[in-house]
Formats: sequence, C-alpha cells, structure tokens
Amino acid sequence: MTLVDAELRRADGAPVRVLVVEDEVSLAELLTMALRYEGWDVRSAGDGLSAVRTAREFGPDLVVLDIMLPDIDGLEVLRRLRAGTPTLPVLFLTAKDAVEDRIAGLTVGGDDYVTKPFSLEEVMARLRALLRRSGMTVARTPAVVVGDLVLDEDSREVCRDGDIVELTATEFELLRYLMRNPRRVLSKAQILDQVWHYDFGGNSNVVELYISYLRKKVDAGRSPMIHTMRGAGYVLKPAAD
Ligand code: CA
Repeated sequence: MTLVDAELRRADGAPVRVLVVEDEVSLAELLTMALRYEGWDVRSAGDGLSAVRTAREFGPDLVVLDIMLPDIDGLEVLRRLRAGTPTLPVLFLTAKDAVEDRIAGLTVGGDDYVTKPFSLEEVMARLRALLRRSGMTVARTPAVVVGDLVLDEDSREVCRDGDIVELTATEFELLRYLMRNPRRVLSKAQILDQVWHYDFGGNSNVVELYISYLRKKVDAGRSPMIHTMRGAGYVLKPAAD
C-alpha cells in the first residue's frame, strides 16, 4: 500500500496557512490537529474579533469559519476578512438546519460549508477542493494500491485490474478504509466508527450490507479480495494468484 496525504502548498513552497475559527474548544482542537497532520500551518481563534485580528497578522490561505460565535457571527467575520482579501476562500461550519439557506446564498463565490456533525474526511476533502479552486499548487495524492486494486483519492476513481469500478460515496469511503489497512482484520465497530463516524446510529448491519455491495462491485467474477473473518470482522488483501 502506498499512501501519502495530499500535499497542497503555497506558490513559494511554504505550507498552506489555515485559520480555524471555532468557539467549541474540543472541535477547534480536533480540526487544528487534523490540519496540522496534513502538514498545514494552522492558527485558531475562539471568537470573531480575534479571528479578524489573527487573519490580518497571519495571512491565511483559507479560513474554516464557524457561524455561531460568541461575539460577532461568522458572516460578519467573513465580511471583515473579505474587505482586506476579497478572494479568501472560506469553509463554513454550521449547525444542522440552522442557517443553511442563508449560507447557501453566500457560497456562490466558491465558498463551501459543512453542517455539524461532520466527518474530518469530508472537511479535508472540501478544504482541498477549495484550495485547488483558489489556485494553490497541488501535488497529486499517490493512489492507494492493494494488489490489482487501485483507488485514486483525487479523482475518486477505483480500478480493479484496469477496469473502472463505479462506487457510491459510502462504498468509496468503506473501500478506502479497507485499502488503507490491507491484511488487517477490521471489526464492524472499527469500520462503523471510521466510515460512518459519530453522526451515525451505530447499526453494524449497515457494515454487512455495504461489504456485500462492495463485494459485488470489486470481487464479482474475480479472485476475492474482501474476506470475512468469522466473529472478528473483515480483511482486504491482494487476491491469491
Ligand atoms: Ca459555535
């Protein structure tokens, strides 16, 4: 398996700068950690006014912006940031059903938003997309390869032995998780946690169901790669010759 997380860089080769504006401390820390893991330069602010101050001094390439802040709200923060940097890309964080329509109206400029609770994978995918659109240099993510199965995270294409395998978004996430852990037995609980995240009820039947979908698409008519380890979970490994 080969896997390196996508590397986007500033034109001068320096790490991407991201400002995280979020007053929920645990969420801010989680995001900051994930973004640093990506190799990005991250600062965070817990309220709107310090966000505006930090942005002036830090010069972020991208802002992750919670809407509900203790002082001025995210939309007002955006107005102030945009006064100085009209094209600054923003990913909004919103509570579910809260202000989606209002935000949708503001995202015409190429901004994006995610509703809470969200998965880190989703946030990262959207941030990468925002950065690409804003013209940041993109080093392509090397494909994840297990045997004759290839998963391209950038194009979200999957091929087995050269044939394209069409997957739904959830099937793709599940396969990606399996492929990132080849030859490792993954329990249903682990899979639920990693693929469906905490926003899902936690019914492990859904794992069985999606494993069966994946088998039909990845393994049908070929030597199987996805194996059931009775009572333990599932394992993906290169097909036996
Ligand atoms: Ca908040």
